[in-house]
Amino acid sequence: MADILITNGLVLTCEKDVLSGPIIPDGAVAVEGNKILEVGSSAELAAKYAGAHRIDASGCIVMPGFVITHTHMPYVLGHNMPVDFSRLKSFWDMLQKMGWEWLEDITTGEGIYAATRYAAAKMLKSGTTTVCEMVEGPNALPGALSSSVRAIEEVGIRAQVGFEVTERIPGVSILERMDPARAEEGFQENLRLLKSHPAGGEGRIQGRLGVHTAYTNSPDTLRAARSFADQHGCGIQIHAAEIPRAFLVEKYGKSAPRVLEETGVLGADVLAVHCIDMTDEDLEIFQRRGVHVAHTPMTNSLGGNGVARVPEMLELGINVSLGHDCFFTLDTPEYIRYAYLLHKAHNANPMLLPPFQALDLVLGNGARALGLQERIGSLAAGKRADILVIRPDAPAPVTPASVTSWITMTFRGRDVETVLVDGRVVVDQGRMTTVDEEEVARKCREEAIKLWRKNGIDV
Ligand SMILES: [Zn+2]
Repeated sequence: MADILITNGLVLTCEKDVLSGPIIPDGAVAVEGNKILEVGSSAELAAKYAGAHRIDASGCIVMPGFVITHTHMPYVLGHNMPVDFSRLKSFWDMLQKMGWEWLEDITTGEGIYAATRYAAAKMLKSGTTTVCEMVEGPNALPGALSSSVRAIEEVGIRAQVGFEVTERIPGVSILERMDPARAEEGFQENLRLLKSHPAGGEGRIQGRLGVHTAYTNSPDTLRAARSFADQHGCGIQIHAAEIPRAFLVEKYGKSAPRVLEETGVLGADVLAVHCIDMTDEDLEIFQRRGVHVAHTPMTNSLGGNGVARVPEMLELGINVSLGHDCFFTLDTPEYIRYAYLLHKAHNANPMLLPPFQALDLVLGNGARALGLQERIGSLAAGKRADILVIRPDAPAPVTPASVTSWITMTFRGRDVETVLVDGRVVVDQGRMTTVDEEEVARKCREEAIKLWRKNGIDV
């Protein structure tokens, strides 16, 4: 017996991927509890599930929710913060000042909670139903993850969540000194979350160990991260090769992928984020180890860090998904579109990353990157009911033949009308059902003001 029946839509199943998944004109999706019961034609399913609550998707696209595999939701507090950018001369400065000193090191539990509610709600409203969140904020320990998870629970997005393990000492250059005891605090924070939200369980929210980088941790801590992930079956999320390789080569005489391989970190449960400055050998290591990649083109562009070799990664069979750092808009289609266009421009080749492949990044590939391919990423019986109803604002027909192109070229977040996560309607007619949006925005701005004032900004 279906609880909800979405009818009369242009249904994209995206099973097994966007290109081969059937597209059903005048299609329907039946939902029972938190799962998809059946996908088929409207006439057939309407007759079969007459008693279900009906969502009429006439004129709309019905598709799986997007999966964004790298976020730092508390970063929204620093959006457009008018700091003295003339002091930032390099990516290294951006990381130390903008990332750490002006943001992470002064983040509080209340800030994490308020910002996460805001960011999660905005992402849901533009179609992201799953995120992989890495919380950073060494002075918000212990308890940073409980603040994050409290917000995620309230808003209703699906998430894997972890705290960054790092030996970095706030206020001290990592070139000068690091402290393994700091990393231990990070492990303990992850452990507490995994006890309440185990990986591989039935929950909508699950723990995934966060590890900051290979250069902010010693080889011993990296080895400990592998043991921790094996013990708890939780997988690892880690930034890799996001800075020019010279830094790690100078420190260890080898690249991040080699350091990570030699310390045993790499495996099919690893989600490596950024992965820009990769040699052929580095790519081969990721391919051999089955590492998943979270591609973050906007952040990489902002930092002037270059362009990841995504078309080559895909060619090698490396699973590439899409992430962002919450530095910019939270409007998911903008990230899809940027990835869709960037590699064509960078390689002077319009054939790279066609629409179906750009969409795979945020659907099946994203689900696989998080080990959730049996649950999300497509519309099929038995999968979790994470579903979007999108009303295209289009000057030309959106048909089965044009719909993937429309999503990559024209779609905007405000076109998302209804969103289900785990069978629950969390966005209805473009409005959040789980939280008071005005209150969420107000609280977030209050926390942003507190953070800005700590940086001496008169606001
Ligand atoms: Zn990041």
